[in-house]
Amino acid sequence: MSDTALLAVLVAAVGGLLAGLAWAAGRGRDERRRRPGFRSSPHYSEGLHALATGQLELAIHELEKVRREHPDSVEVLQVLSHLYREVGKTERAIEIHKALVARRDLTRAERAYALASLGTDFRKAGFLDRASEAYHEALLVEPKNLHALAGQQKLHEDQRQWREAFEIQTRIARMRKSDDALVLGFLQTEMGKEALAAGHRDAAEEAFRTALSLDRRVFPAHLSLADLWLERDPRRAAQVLEDAIAAVPERAYLAFGALQRAYAACGEPERFMALCERLVGQDSRDWRARLGLARQLRSEGRAGEALGLLLRAVEANPHVLLVHLEVWRTLRALAQLGPEEQKYVATVEESALYVDPHICTACRYRADDMLWRCPHCHEWNTLVEERVGPAAGTS
Ligand SMILES: [Zn+2]
Repeated sequence: MSDTALLAVLVAAVGGLLAGLAWAAGRGRDERRRRPGFRSSPHYSEGLHALATGQLELAIHELEKVRREHPDSVEVLQVLSHLYREVGKTERAIEIHKALVARRDLTRAERAYALASLGTDFRKAGFLDRASEAYHEALLVEPKNLHALAGQQKLHEDQRQWREAFEIQTRIARMRKSDDALVLGFLQTEMGKEALAAGHRDAAEEAFRTALSLDRRVFPAHLSLADLWLERDPRRAAQVLEDAIAAVPERAYLAFGALQRAYAACGEPERFMALCERLVGQDSRDWRARLGLARQLRSEGRAGEALGLLLRAVEANPHVLLVHLEVWRTLRALAQLGPEEQKYVATVEESALYVDPHICTACRYRADDMLWRCPHCHEWNTLVEERVGPAAGTS
């Protein structure tokens, strides 16, 4: 789903939520508290249509017309302010939310929601103190306001206050009755890394173990735990990494470096080759396992065999720059390259910007490496290897 399509769904959801809140609030009150008039405006449907097709500026344009016809409509103001924030006009969003908060005719739910939204405006604009204040006020109005709680949680994450983020996330999970074990596991892992940086090895180990007891798929917890044990007990470290691969096979490549070290420390470097061979056997398109195998072969002076493997990897995954690079390196090791070609390889090695592109499945943010938390949408575990498919019309 594209950024804007996702946003459209989100805003529609917000609109629906607000409508629900307004309806619930209006029930049993006098007639004038219901505010359905704006829905009959043609600009409202135009605005929603623009929103659904990802044309945010057009949606703003139409909804501004609705706002002029129905200046008091809380729903329209809420959706408009979300849109302004999304297109980067945060100051407009702040203006609308401040005006909403100053009104006396809002229901409790509406006021809490407007305050929480104001908090998110401030957070997006980088005013963390004011964001924190607004969320706090929202929670005073409505102590279980999920929007404010989620905002506070993100605010703690932004400031690397992992323990606080963990506590709030636990509350949110309990209130929503949702399974947030994976996110909680990632937060525990960050707590562990922080403990380790402060020299508290036992606390770190405890946190990594807690993370894995929450969810086996918290890959970085396996990596950190293996790192802790690598020197003292490489066999145990290798076991942890093998568990990681069993739990999340598609992330196996992230454990390759550590596994190679662990097996070498055990005096059994051949186990790495066996692992790669097994992975290639399971998935013939697994170019990372082929790459790992080829590198190992080359380091053992078996560059010819490495080249054969890599050529098969190129066939299966022609789009992967890293595989091509490895072919060139192997040719260099086989002394197959003249000075010009060597110069070319050196230039490619230095200038390749997106050697190992990863993309966020939530917001399409692109990174040139694997990250556990998306720096754009701040979600956990959403980055995956970016795969380029064949162009349309090719077989
Ligand atoms: Zn993202």
